[in-house]
Amino acid sequence: MTSSYRDLSQLQRSLKEGQVTVSGLVRHYLKNIESSRDLNQYIEVYEEEALHAAAALDEKIKTGQPLGKLFGLILSHKDIISYKGHALTASSNILEGYTALFHATVIERALAEDAILIGRVQCDEFAMGSSNENSRYGPVRNPFDKERIPGGSSGASATSVASDTCWASLGTDTGGSVRQPAAFCGLVGFKPGYGRISRHGLIAYASSFDQAGFLTRSVYDAALLLEVAAGYDGHDASMGQATPEQYSQALDVPEKPRLAYLDLLHFKDAMDPAILKNYHETLESWKNKGFALDPVALDWLDYVIPAYYVMTTAEASSNLSRYDGIRYGYRADDATTLEQLYKRTRTRGFGTEVKRRILLGTYVLSAGFYDAYYQKAQKVRRLVRNRLDELFRQYDALVMPVSPTLPWKIGEKIDDPVSVYLADIFTVLANVAGLPGISLPTGVDARGLPIGTQLVGGQWKEQKLLRIAHALTLQE
Ligand code: GLN
Repeated sequence: MTSSYRDLSQLQRSLKEGQVTVSGLVRHYLKNIESSRDLNQYIEVYEEEALHAAAALDEKIKTGQPLGKLFGLILSHKDIISYKGHALTASSNILEGYTALFHATVIERALAEDAILIGRVQCDEFAMGSSNENSRYGPVRNPFDKERIPGGSSGASATSVASDTCWASLGTDTGGSVRQPAAFCGLVGFKPGYGRISRHGLIAYASSFDQAGFLTRSVYDAALLLEVAAGYDGHDASMGQATPEQYSQALDVPEKPRLAYLDLLHFKDAMDPAILKNYHETLESWKNKGFALDPVALDWLDYVIPAYYVMTTAEASSNLSRYDGIRYGYRADDATTLEQLYKRTRTRGFGTEVKRRILLGTYVLSAGFYDAYYQKAQKVRRLVRNRLDELFRQYDALVMPVSPTLPWKIGEKIDDPVSVYLADIFTVLANVAGLPGISLPTGVDARGLPIGTQLVGGQWKEQKLLRIAHALTLQE
């Protein structure tokens, strides 16, 4: 149903003309949530609330009352983003029984513009992962091939849109968690630059990398969501002061962008041939549309993975120290001393991948290793940012693949975490540098598995990036 509309503006027109109703749309999604249970995506469905909000909205439409920018937009949200009065677990045992005490700013702003939340979808535990297999709720299945992973960590955010159970999804992206699952499920995945959207109400993984992002079917919808969510929020001290723009309104302004694309010569042995082929075909088709594209080598790109995993695990080890069984969530009930309580709670409450990262992070921050790892990684971060600032003085966007691999089989890489980390090479770059990035669906392999291509833009250049992405995705 939703795929018959190009973007939300078309749906809104149909709603206003009375061809569809919001209640009808919500019922359609609720039905699809039921029939796609095997994908293992929703952990809570807000059936009554959503139907109630839809009826109120239909009444507003019928009586010609003013409508919010997002009317008709039905959203799922990742189990990392706080929705007041509802459970929130980061897909971890350690947050068992926790209820969100306030709305995340992104959710508050979306609701204020008449969006409706239909349910909470699972993810990798504390957003750590690339396959949505590190979850207390078990793996999520990719609707394009149910034996395969949907990507991660916002895996179920991607599947919820791809399986037509909602219009779009709110996810988070610390190192690719919106863009990579979007690519694996044939969607647009957009992560704004660091400081563009408030992090208030997002469960922290690595605070200097985390950003909310959107999984949508069109660049227009991503632009509209950014327009609503962006802008200063006193609850997040790391926010930028840059004034947000009316992103969705200026997408059609013609632009003659200068695009750089990553030359994959150095990476080609580690890449799936279908992705290489799609990348070259995509570049070719963009050239044919009249876009200028120059190759760049980025011979320092290999450094971003180690730097990313040193810094994010360091931040995670600090952020996750708050889960001690004392204040909220799961508590081991068989401890007799305080130390036992901490140990047993954290041993049972966290999953394997989260523990691995807490240990790694504690190690790189420990006296004696701090200079060699953590501080060195910070220097790499500065250098990477400087190089990219230089690049963006010459170019408007950098084109790269999203992932070197296609969605793999569930369980296939469970014993090889390093190979999974290495596959984040093309997405972590934007987070290391704090820049906006968007993945666009650019094709499928011979078996029909989706493939995406990514654009990264300069700091505070979301408008430009979205405009370019919009132009590249326009159908002739
Ligand atoms: N796959 C990356 C990681 O595991 C990214 C996760 C994310 O963006 N939340 O850290």
